Formats: sequence, C-alpha cells, structure tokens
Amino acid sequence: MAFSDDTRQELARVIPSARCCRLAELSAFYELSGFLLGRHNQFLDFNTSWPYVARKILLVIKGLYPDLPTQVLMVRSRSRRSQVCTVRVLGRAGAGQVYQEIKEQSVMGQAGIPRKKCCRRAYLRGAFLCAGSITNPERTYHLEITTEQSRLAEKILAAIWSLDLEAGMTQRKGSLVVYMKDGGDIASLLGLMGAHSALLQFENVRVMKEMRNQVNRLVNCETANVDKTVQAAMAQIEDIELIDAVIGLEELPPKLREVARLRREHPYASIQELGEMMTPQLSKSGVNYRLRQIREKARQLDKLNPKS
Ligand SMILES: [Zn+2]
Repeated sequence: MAFSDDTRQELARVIPSARCCRLAELSAFYELSGFLLGRHNQFLDFNTSWPYVARKILLVIKGLYPDLPTQVLMVRSRSRRSQVCTVRVLGRAGAGQVYQEIKEQSVMGQAGIPRKKCCRRAYLRGAFLCAGSITNPERTYHLEITTEQSRLAEKILAAIWSLDLEAGMTQRKGSLVVYMKDGGDIASLLGLMGAHSALLQFENVRVMKEMRNQVNRLVNCETANVDKTVQAAMAQIEDIELIDAVIGLEELPPKLREVARLRREHPYASIQELGEMMTPQLSKSGVNYRLRQIREKARQLDKLNPKS
C-alpha cells in the first residue's frame, strides 16, 4: 500500500492553477464522495478517509470561492481504525452555487467528461484521490478507481480513453472497478495527473524489471542451447561406446575413428571445436556428417545385439 499512499499524497499536493481545472477536480470529488445535505440543501459535503485529501479539497474550494464559509469535521470510528474527514460548504446560497457550477462542469463535452484535456487530467486526479489505488510496480502493474455507480465508472473509463490510454472495467463485490494494466499507460497517467515522483519511481522499477527479464531470457536461451549440445554429445558417446564394445573402434574407417576418438576424449567440445582438432581441420557439416554415420553404424549394431 505504501506506493499507493505515496502517490495519493503527492497528488494531494497538486493544486491546479486554472479555474477550469479546479472546478473539474472538484466535480470528481463531488461525484465520488460528495453530498448536498440538509432540509434546505444548506450543506455541501465532501467526505474522505485521508486528512491530506480533505486539506486539498478545502484548498481547492477556498481558491475558487474565497468568501464562502466552510467547515472541516473529523469523525473517528469507534474502533479508531478508520476516520472520515468532511469538508463542508455552509449555507444555502454558497452550497447551491458550488453545486450548480460543479454540475455544469460535469456535463460538458461528450460522455459527460470535461471538454478540455487539462480538465480531464484534473478530473482523473480527483477521482484517483477519492477512490483510486495503485499496486507497487515491483509486484504488478495495476491502477484502479472504484465506484458503486455505473454511470460514474463509465465516465471515468471514457476520461481515461480520451487521453489515448487503455483501461477496462470489471465488477468486484458490488462495486465497479475501472482498471489499467499496461505499465506504459499507467506511467503516462501518473505523469498526466502530475504525480512526477511516483512516475519516476514507477519507471525505475519498470526499467529494472525489463532488464531482469531480458537477462533471464538470454540466460534461459543459452542454458537451453547448452543442454541441447550436451545431450547430443552424450548420445554420440553412447553410440561410440556401443561400437567399441561390439566390434571395437579400430574396425571403423579411419575418418570415423578419428571423430569417435576425439568425441570420447572431449565430451563437452562443440562440433566446431571437434572439427578444429582434426588433421586436416574439418567443417561443422563435415563433422556432423561423420557423426551421423557413426550413429547409423551404432543403430545397425544395436539391432544385431538387442540385449546391449
Ligand atoms: Zn482545465
């Protein structure tokens, strides 16, 4: 969870400078965790479990509406294990004004997502701050934002797609989960939301992982080749031992006898190395040809002597 917390804390420190983006981010806060309350709709509440997110919501509201009265409430659960921080805009006029502007902001553009790219980035940052999490990239590449409202999940999905990034949607325990799995796309989103430290950390891990994978691939590939070579050499030595036991190597034609002798003396030599040891030197295909003949000879002898 540490990486997720670090990312959230970093995003909580990003305060957009443009009014349009502040409103877009506030609209994400409202849609995911906000309520218009009271008999006369005199309270507009934003709830969050993270005090630093509450601080950010307050800063964004204060930046947009410096004169509106606000209040911050904190309620701890009885077990003291969880807490809810509420940022409240007080008064019917103020709450109504903020609510109205958020509503207008949240229905701009196609699929209800903000029309301007700067605002879509701010909107997703707000959504992530309220309901997002990201897995430590050492484990796996996974970023998600959860909500119980299907229209909202579709909007978040559309906002991610609008930035040319891949995302999917699934259900988990009655909630809808918008998730991303591609390391490159998650990195891009971190950058677009303004989580530059998290992005750096994420990319470092990604580079290390990629290098490790490459090294593993190379090692596996080489090991496989070595295994094959050794197995082939062992089979050749078996053939040679068989011929020696049944008729004796001296019965082989001189050309085959030389290869057989060299192979037995140098079980780990490559075909090329065997060729270089011969006088005169022999090409790989020449050595292979003679080894095939030895194989053939051994097969014939094996048929004649089924017990061996
Ligand atoms: Zn904007």
